[in-house]
Amino acid sequence: MNKKIEIVAVVGTGTLGTQIAMQSANANYHVKIFDIREGSFQNTLKTNKDLERLVPLDKWPSCKKKIHQVKHLEEAVEEADLVIEAVPEDLVTKRKVWADIGLKTNPDTILATNSSSIPVSQLEESSGRPERCLNLHFYIGMNMVDVMKGTRTLPKVIETGINWVRSLECIPLTVKKELLGFCFNRVWRAVKREVLNMWANGFVDFRDVDRAWMIFNGMNESPERFGPFALMDKVGLDVIYDIEMVYYSDSKDSKDRPPKKLKEKIARGELGVKSGKGFYTYPDPEYMTPDFLNP
Ligand code: NAD
Repeated sequence: MNKKIEIVAVVGTGTLGTQIAMQSANANYHVKIFDIREGSFQNTLKTNKDLERLVPLDKWPSCKKKIHQVKHLEEAVEEADLVIEAVPEDLVTKRKVWADIGLKTNPDTILATNSSSIPVSQLEESSGRPERCLNLHFYIGMNMVDVMKGTRTLPKVIETGINWVRSLECIPLTVKKELLGFCFNRVWRAVKREVLNMWANGFVDFRDVDRAWMIFNGMNESPERFGPFALMDKVGLDVIYDIEMVYYSDSKDSKDRPPKKLKEKIARGELGVKSGKGFYTYPDPEYMTPDFLNP
């Protein structure tokens, strides 16, 4: 029989952990959250406008009431049926967190990573229950989730994961065998690599890439319009860099290495929406102005 999910724990409540916690609360799950940074959940709610597309603003107060912030990892995960890890994209950090979660949860608790690039096969051993581990990769402000198994994940665990994703009113994108980047994220990643190199090597103005993307995708009139650079700002340029480094470490192909210019932006504190400046400046980025598509 499939495990019934009632209590969901989210570990790491930055950009994506906060979104996942709110989506879970909106679907009436009992949610517990833990982050090593005090106030991360509240601070993320202040800057993450994309969440409004998934959880309408008028439902935020009731969702927040269903989310319990705790001070220790153990309190968050000890009674959870499902734990979603959303800590930074670094294998060493994630393995450590997974090992801790593994020790502090019931053996039948399902563990998922929201990693954007690390297959769960690289984390499952540290959890102590590889048959109950999977990738559940959410997208910022979008109602779709990549679902991918590890080397020993039980079919009923994948089924439970897919049903849970559906219960959040998200579309599951099932990956049939391990693939770096999952389903749509691999497509998005190819776009990112290309446009970052075009910008860093001085071939184009990043604004033109975004303009072209918006026109190509019929976003001219959309209040939600964005191009690849605007989307990278939303994701966080530090997060983008870490993800690209995972691909580079895997391929060792210099074309996969994220450009130095991106690293320099990060060193200047230009992290995107969350720091108020990335490729664009916030809260009123240039790409949302009426003249942007016809400068
Ligand atoms: P983020 O930097 O906004 O948040 C990470 C949070 O984890 C921070 O609040 C940090 O304090 C916390 N943290 C760090 N170490 C911790 C620990 N040991 N225990 C508990 N909390 C800890 O990052 P993010 O953008 O939310 O990304 C988190 C994960 O989600 C990454 O694996 C990333 O690849 C993935 N992801 C991000 C996006 C995106 O659009 N940003 C989309 C899909 C997936």
